[in-house]
Amino acid sequence: MELAFLSDMAQQWLSHFRTDLFRYLMAATAVSLSVSWLFRGWMERRRIQKRRAHWRDIRREVSFSMLTLGIFATVGIITSILRDWGLVKLYWEWGDYPLWWAIVSLPVVILVHDTYFYWTHRTMHHPRLFRHFHRVHHLSRTPTPWAAYSFSVGEGVLMAIFSPLILTILPLHVLVWLAFIFVMIFRNAMLHAGCEFHPRGWVDGPLDFMTTTTHHDLHHQKFRGNYGFYFTWWDRLMGTEFRDYKDAFRRAASGDTESGNDGKGLQVTT
Ligand SMILES: [Zn+2]
Ligand SMILES: [Zn+2]
Repeated sequence: MELAFLSDMAQQWLSHFRTDLFRYLMAATAVSLSVSWLFRGWMERRRIQKRRAHWRDIRREVSFSMLTLGIFATVGIITSILRDWGLVKLYWEWGDYPLWWAIVSLPVVILVHDTYFYWTHRTMHHPRLFRHFHRVHHLSRTPTPWAAYSFSVGEGVLMAIFSPLILTILPLHVLVWLAFIFVMIFRNAMLHAGCEFHPRGWVDGPLDFMTTTTHHDLHHQKFRGNYGFYFTWWDRLMGTEFRDYKDAFRRAASGDTESGNDGKGLQVTT
């Protein structure tokens, strides 16, 4: 009986691990191939830093991402147990909740995740927590898409528990949940691409409330500022956006990275 239980748990763990591994590989590979092959000429002109990531950086990013996937799989089992107890509000039938909710719930879950990310991320930068929670992610000074899940154990757990937390609070259609995961991992890989994906003029137009690759890349270069993930709202509200962000974006998007980023313009230090 006990052996059967353990074998069932191991199978569930492997299944969660495989699913998350597939998503990670899909997003990181797609973004890497876009940068180094599909749009190579365009992307080379849009490099954000002069420094290049080394193969050993990518090896470290992938290794720690595998550890994070193990944590995700473990938390995935906890989520399955919560579902068995009837606490997870994922639903399969569109008619279970009003259709307007199914439509609105995707932006809602992204907004909630953005807030969760900003505040957990900023907290992990506290000097007492940084070493144990967030140091590994910042070993990537020049990040690559493979850094998407390159976390310390503490950060991995913090990021993983968002799923059971939100799924026990908000009723979400299973396709809305999958769409959220898709947006999250692709956005994550893009923010670590090292080349600016967003079109010229982005920071001077109506979509300036959305972050860019330069926004997060500056965080890896200068540490204390630009904590946001999808949106710039929290950084602007809390005064933690780097003053030179828009100039750095304009340089990268126009292909003028010769001057590089000078490390000045820090608005706030935690
Ligand atoms: Zn990062
Ligand atoms: Zn950070």
